[in-house]
Amino acid sequence: KHLVIAIDGPAGAGKSTVAQIVAQRLGYTYIDTGAMYRAVAWESIHRGLSSCDSGGIASIAKNINLKLSYVNGMTNVTINGLDVTDAIRTPEVSKTVSSVAQIPALRQVMLKMQRDMASSGGVVMDGRDIGTHVLPGADIKVFLTASIKERAKRRWEELSDKGFDVDLSQLESEIASRDKQDCEREAAPLVKAPDAIPIDTTNLSIDEAVQQILCLCEE
Ligand code: C5P
Repeated sequence: KHLVIAIDGPAGAGKSTVAQIVAQRLGYTYIDTGAMYRAVAWESIHRGLSSCDSGGIASIAKNINLKLSYVNGMTNVTINGLDVTDAIRTPEVSKTVSSVAQIPALRQVMLKMQRDMASSGGVVMDGRDIGTHVLPGADIKVFLTASIKERAKRRWEELSDKGFDVDLSQLESEIASRDKQDCEREAAPLVKAPDAIPIDTTNLSIDEAVQQILCLCEE
């Protein structure tokens, strides 16, 4: 059977890394919904739209040709053929994306796109509202968390590797504010689905988290 697996959780809990490996092991498609929101945020910055322009931003999502592909464990993203893989991960986009993601009209467009992408099964989709809104009927739902200190440390390592000079305590407060926006927004807030299995990755290696999810798939 080709399962549908939903993995949700806050920024830096390890979702994309873990989800990607799970998908690879099972021969499934991995879908990074955060990358989709980031792409829309990038495009709206690029076009000079304010993050309050809900109509304009929702229409971006409808009209751009957004493609995700996976190369060497990385989500490659193109918008109308332009490679924005690195551009959507800059601190500027990270700061804007949560405001953009509050827009109900945008979330509606994304919901439809994401359901279509999962319709044939054999997918691992990660995000904030996958188990609760996008794929409420998913076969397996996981809620990945980690302490805020650990999540900030992971983001710091990731950004330092890419040559960004960032301050750990500043990252910690940025992650805290993104958590707050994601959890407190009205449209599809970040919350654990009642039937999601919680996995705390604070003291787990990537491989241990992957194994726990693969075990759930075998049950
Ligand atoms: O996962 P990542 O940190 O790249 O996601 C970027 C932002 O996109 C999140 O902070 C959140 O505001 C938004 N997002 C969302 N719903 C999703 C995935 C991401 O609101 N399913």
